[in-house]
Amino acid sequence: MATTAKTVSEFVDSVKAKNPAQPEFIQAVDEVVESIWPVLEKRPEYRKASIIDRIVEPERVIMFRVPWVDDSGDVHVNRGFRIEMNSAIGPYKGGLRFHPSVNLGILKFLAFEQVVKNSLTTLPMGGGKGGSDFDPKGKSDNEVMKFCQSFMTELFRHIGPNTDVPAGDIGVGGREIGYLFGQYRRIRNEFTGVLTGKGLNWGGSLIRPEATGYGAVYFAAEMLGTRNETLEGKKCLVSGSGNVTQYAAEKLLDLGAMPVTFSDSSGWILDESGIDRDKLAFVMELKNLKRGRIKEYADKFPGAVYTPVDSSLDYNPLWDVKADCAFPSATQNEINAKDAANLIKNGVYVVSEGANMPTVPEGVGIFLDKKILYGPGKAANAGGVATSGLEMSQNSLRLSWTREEVDQRLQGIMKAIHKAAFETAEEFGMPGNYVAGANIAGFIKIADSMLDQGVI
Ligand code: NDP
Repeated sequence: MATTAKTVSEFVDSVKAKNPAQPEFIQAVDEVVESIWPVLEKRPEYRKASIIDRIVEPERVIMFRVPWVDDSGDVHVNRGFRIEMNSAIGPYKGGLRFHPSVNLGILKFLAFEQVVKNSLTTLPMGGGKGGSDFDPKGKSDNEVMKFCQSFMTELFRHIGPNTDVPAGDIGVGGREIGYLFGQYRRIRNEFTGVLTGKGLNWGGSLIRPEATGYGAVYFAAEMLGTRNETLEGKKCLVSGSGNVTQYAAEKLLDLGAMPVTFSDSSGWILDESGIDRDKLAFVMELKNLKRGRIKEYADKFPGAVYTPVDSSLDYNPLWDVKADCAFPSATQNEINAKDAANLIKNGVYVVSEGANMPTVPEGVGIFLDKKILYGPGKAANAGGVATSGLEMSQNSLRLSWTREEVDQRLQGIMKAIHKAAFETAEEFGMPGNYVAGANIAGFIKIADSMLDQGVI
């Protein structure tokens, strides 16, 4: 059966009917399908082969029980997932998220975004995503290890270096990847590049921890380059305080910009004097080792102001600060329509998304309308998975590239992604629209690969 929907909304309604209670997934599908609809008009063979009907349907969804015992001997049960979305251009690739908000719809949105993003990276990677509703916050190292071991005791049978190669995401950093890899190796009796984000001593790549944040900043620099500008001297709002945030801030400092905000789920800090290298080192230790809260930044540095989250507000005051650039790097839908309007009002004209889908569709509409330099997550944050791809290459070759070599490749890939999104937007008559450019460029490669491989 060919794609029969006549309009985007007719198609999205059919996806909604089939996937009830998955608003984030529908949001992600809606955005991509809206962008690629003009391509379907030009390429009837995609319609005939039901390409879009097939790409919104995961190739495989795995859901499983994850039982584990806490330090007091109490038994807990979490739910584990792996969405193997599309492997037309390579093995499934995408992170694992451990956060209490994790559910099927959120992981399907992330997996779907990942498919298009991975295609854009120029590397041969399909798309997937997984995780659990487990909350690592407040758990001991031992409890996190027990959980990871139980999680991998089921996941191991579904993944492999040529099948599906998970990585980190929210709540899954170097510590968790270590425990997951250890258990995989034990069960399989095999040392392979089955996960990325590994430690340097056991197959990891230099620059992988830095890659997503660095990449989002490189992407911003590329966008500014189209207006003959640089990041030098720019005041930047950065949200979150985890992996992506920390390295976005580091690269901003390298390029002469000034980050002034960070946040976590409890509140945010504003440091008008700038978050410099020493202050960033404090945040890295606070978040990565002590696993503390961002509030402690303001206790340590008296010039900074901490504001706790106020759930009665219909906007996020972090986005209501005068600045030039914004790097949303915490989580999905963290910029609503009012936040987007506030950003514009405050002079922000560069938004480069470190997080996945951090801006709601109305907010994206505002950015596009105002013609600011807006880099959507699937282009701007693709540096992380691209460097995971480089880690896979190094594992296959059984050698390690230098820091400079990996960073150079990362910069080259971010340039290529920017070029593809920029030029595709122009080709389809939407100059400067990186959303359409990224979606169309990513989609065409997958669609053509699916056509080549027949109806599967
Ligand atoms: P981390 O777990 O290292 O950090 C996440 C940060 O965001 C923490 O400060 C966390 O605060 C905050 N946060 C998470 N959820 C919420 C929420 N619901 N409300 C408010 N704050 C929240 O994750 P990463 O830095 O790895 O990931 C951040 C974003 O970047 C995610 O959208 C992820 O999908 C995306 N991304 C990550 C990549 C990677 O390589 N790591 C690659 C591409 C995209 P708290 O500690 O209080 O929860």
